[in-house]
Amino acid sequence: MRFHPWIFSGAIEKTIGKPAEGDIVECFSSTGSYLATGHCMPGSLAVKLFGFKRQKINTAFWQSKINAAWQVRKSVGIIGNSRTNAYRLVHNEGDSLPGLIVDIYGGMAVLQAHSTGMHDIRQTLADAIVVASKGKISSVYDKSAESIYKMTGRNVENGFLVGDTGTFDIIENGHHFHVDAVAGQKTGFFLDQRDNRELLAHYSKDRNVLNMFGYTGGFSVYAAAAGAKIVHTVDSSAPAVAIAENNMKMNGFDKSEYACITADARKYIDAMESGMYDLIVLDPPAYAKNVASRNQALKGYRTINAMALEKIKSGGILFTFSCSQVVDRQMFTSAVTAAAIDAGRQVRIIQHLSQPADHPVNIFHQEGEYLKGLVLLVD
Ligand code: SAH
Repeated sequence: MRFHPWIFSGAIEKTIGKPAEGDIVECFSSTGSYLATGHCMPGSLAVKLFGFKRQKINTAFWQSKINAAWQVRKSVGIIGNSRTNAYRLVHNEGDSLPGLIVDIYGGMAVLQAHSTGMHDIRQTLADAIVVASKGKISSVYDKSAESIYKMTGRNVENGFLVGDTGTFDIIENGHHFHVDAVAGQKTGFFLDQRDNRELLAHYSKDRNVLNMFGYTGGFSVYAAAAGAKIVHTVDSSAPAVAIAENNMKMNGFDKSEYACITADARKYIDAMESGMYDLIVLDPPAYAKNVASRNQALKGYRTINAMALEKIKSGGILFTFSCSQVVDRQMFTSAVTAAAIDAGRQVRIIQHLSQPADHPVNIFHQEGEYLKGLVLLVD
């Protein structure tokens, strides 16, 4: 009744019939009134709800959901934007489609199911994406193998649902990036940092920039374009670093101003000279995958931030992020506070960062705000 899109098993008094994982089920209150409709899940999170109005769940229903997501991106100026052609079309609970992520890279869509229910209807969803785009999207790649395995332990294969294009050269705020959906991490590119990259550009002129956990160099391209003196991209994944290097070239930057380095974050920061950088980005992978690993993750955030704060030049700026859903903003800020104490530096928060409009947060499911960031000024 408060529209939270999950039902836990402990809240279910009885089950009529024998719904299997992935089946569509209707939920009723103890007095028998209809509450919501969703997909049956295997664990303690028993149902993921996608509808609060009783209606037929058919192809037309899924088409209307995809159309609605399309309209939202259009209304916030992300679709139909000549400077950006890559965006998240469907963001899970944020689009009332729990268990589904769809990222768009120009004419290609990448679908990632996080529930058996969504995986079962992937072809219907893919066709709906093509229809919503009026044919502008001509390839849909299903990249659910990893997410379905994590969720259910079942092995499924990735593959094309429509067309066969798995790579695309996108533009984001006028910058060029090569996206490899098939070989890349997640759906191929981290679209959630788009607005934060633009903010970094604002601080980049004449600075020495370290983009740590840089992946394919998203932040680096923006920093170089904004007139940074040097830009160093560091990531432990060699294939990502190779693409980062290529992205710098695609945007026309001179090799003498930048370097893309394959290295482990802690080892690199440990070895680097103090005061070498006055603008550092720390965007690590999700350290906590679940509540059980949260404490360990908080220690990880504390350590890496303390290391960067110790070495950053006086007057420097640190962009620091957490994309762990189970670490909330308060916990992350506390970990960074502990890091500032460890580093013995005076630190001021000058901005609070989050995820962009194409990653909306359902107000009844605030857990959906997974990306948290701070911009810190270090004395
Ligand atoms: N900032 C990036 C996204 C970062 S995702 C962007 O805007 O696109 C996290 C990245 O951390 C991944 O590319 C992963 O390869 C890298 N990574 C994971 N463990 C690492 C480690 N120990 N040292 C350096 N990089 C690491």
